[in-house]
Amino acid sequence: MSTYDVAVIGSGPGGYVAAIRCAQLGMKTAIIEKYSTLGGTCLNVGCIPSKALLDSSHHYEHAVKHFSDHGIEIPGDVKINLEKMIARKQAVVDQTTGGVEFLMKKNKIDVFEGVGAFKDATHIDITKTDGSQETIEAKNSIIATGSKPSTLPFITIDKKRIITSTEALKLKEIPKHLVIIGGGVIGLELGQVYRRLGAEVSVVEYMDRIIPGMDKALSRELQKVLKKQGVKFYTSHKVTGVKSTAKQVTVTADDKKGNPVEFKGDYCLVSVGRRPYTDGLNAEAAGVKINERGQVEVNDHLQTNVSNIYAIGDVIKGAMLAHKAEEEGVFVAETLAGQKPHIDYNLIPGVVYTWPEVAAVGKTEEELKEAGVAYKSGQFPFRALGRARASADIDGFVKILADEKTDEVLGVHMIGARCADLIAEAVTAMEFRASSEDISRMSHAHPTFTEAIKEAALATTDNRALHV
Ligand SMILES: Cc1cc2nc3c(=O)[nH]c(=O)nc-3n(C[C@H](O)[C@H](O)[C@H](O)COP(=O)(O)OP(=O)(O)OC[C@H]3O[C@@H](n4cnc5c(N)ncnc54)[C@H](O)[C@@H]3O)c2cc1C
Repeated sequence: MSTYDVAVIGSGPGGYVAAIRCAQLGMKTAIIEKYSTLGGTCLNVGCIPSKALLDSSHHYEHAVKHFSDHGIEIPGDVKINLEKMIARKQAVVDQTTGGVEFLMKKNKIDVFEGVGAFKDATHIDITKTDGSQETIEAKNSIIATGSKPSTLPFITIDKKRIITSTEALKLKEIPKHLVIIGGGVIGLELGQVYRRLGAEVSVVEYMDRIIPGMDKALSRELQKVLKKQGVKFYTSHKVTGVKSTAKQVTVTADDKKGNPVEFKGDYCLVSVGRRPYTDGLNAEAAGVKINERGQVEVNDHLQTNVSNIYAIGDVIKGAMLAHKAEEEGVFVAETLAGQKPHIDYNLIPGVVYTWPEVAAVGKTEEELKEAGVAYKSGQFPFRALGRARASADIDGFVKILADEKTDEVLGVHMIGARCADLIAEAVTAMEFRASSEDISRMSHAHPTFTEAIKEAALATTDNRALHV
């Protein structure tokens, strides 16, 4: 029987990063993955493929709607080849998952393909697709089994007409009318992809606003911009049922006033969140506690109630984000090596990759109000920037929230072009506990979108933005 210092179960961004860091720190490491490709949800059916389709559909939209503004004329119609677009997405996925395989080899990590199930706290049975079994011994284990799409109790996902994000990433036709249940990140990103490709898109959301966890100002602006792009929104609507026939779906809901309404479409994307995944793990055999929400319970060291078993990523509490899972993977590896790592969960940024992009870090205005923190706020619109006008990306703004007395930046919320990348400046500033004045006194290259951050900081410091 092979023996390891660490066995990682699950090869998503949490698991494979944990494995690399363990190997870097000199531990003999194994990783177990039930699928034939590494990379987990993120690389196979999450972050990477969704961004590939967002980019492809963005190019198409530009060609159809905006090229002529730039003096670029295309003779004849611009056409979509969906099959090719999906194949390109798959090629990006294959390249990226292949990259993880390379990294495992480079770091001398043993990869086991099969379902990992605890036999006891130091032994894991691995069942391969052909049914054969192998058992390995591990001094320490890291559970990184991630999550799966969740649904509502009365909805049956048939994967044909009533689908999750996984199927939405490989449709064979452009929906005529895509009804999306849930106005969160995944629903909106995929909704925008198909809207750009010509589908009618209706978003039915239970809450009174989309992207409900983010600052209210971002929800409002994103809904406004997506509405302009033709997406229809039905907020404060409680879905009561979804039925499908061979070619049609019917979603029923109660509207704001409790009156029944009906949406007919050819596809229904259920994007109501994700649930932690521990099926087949046999956590009980090791004595690992799973809480009532299905999460593996961990303490501040990401250690389960069994001292040599840790858990990271989507399968534990906290934001279900790839970069959060990665940080936790590194954290556990370094803890096992006797180091004292730290993660500031307040500074894990959240991003929506629609266009305009939405990004945020730190506290929202609603959270500060609720906590009774005295704060000041400054905002700057992208439309006032030369760079935004040059590229015709004028929607959105940057908003900074800072402590009323100390001026320390407490939250940065932005919507606009390239915000997914711009947010890194805010994270850096907040990691070093910058004040809004610190940011406002840093030189920002001109012309760039980053100037909106400097201007918002000037507005926050003492209401002296220069270009409004
Ligand atoms: C459409 C979509 C878009 C997304 N976009 C983004 C984004 O842009 N940015 C972002 O930060 N996040 C995004 N996410 C979320 C992100 O994918 C997850 O937060 C991330 O993948 C979590 O990583 P993880 O390592 O915890 O688990 P996962 O990536 O879910 O990986 C878990 C792995 O464990 C394997 N596994 C499970 N049980 C076993 C077992 N018993 N034995 C062996 N293997 C097992 C699974 O097969 C899987 O490969 C997106 C998700 C979706 C669905």
